[in-house]
Amino acid sequence: MCYTIKSCRCPKCNKELNRATNATGNSSPQGGDLSICGYCTSFLVFREDTSVELLDRDEFLKLPKETRERMIDARDLLNQLSLFKQVKTSHFN
Ligand SMILES: [Zn+2]
Repeated sequence: MCYTIKSCRCPKCNKELNRATNATGNSSPQGGDLSICGYCTSFLVFREDTSVELLDRDEFLKLPKETRERMIDARDLLNQLSLFKQVKTSHFN
């Protein structure tokens, strides 16, 4: 399910972010929830107003190992999808 979030910019790539998808359930984003930028795959964390900030390295390392691994897997998947889109786009253009 896709949720509208407070329009903001990714702190890393500066792309506009205004929607989010919950990969693990059906609840809307809450402050402290983790996320990944769909453009640059940076790890993010939601603020209380559902805008986002970068998840810094120390915060990432404090997460449970299983959570870190799931985030890395999700980032790898997004990167693979991005490569697929590039190949598909170049093939059909
Ligand atoms: Zn980004």
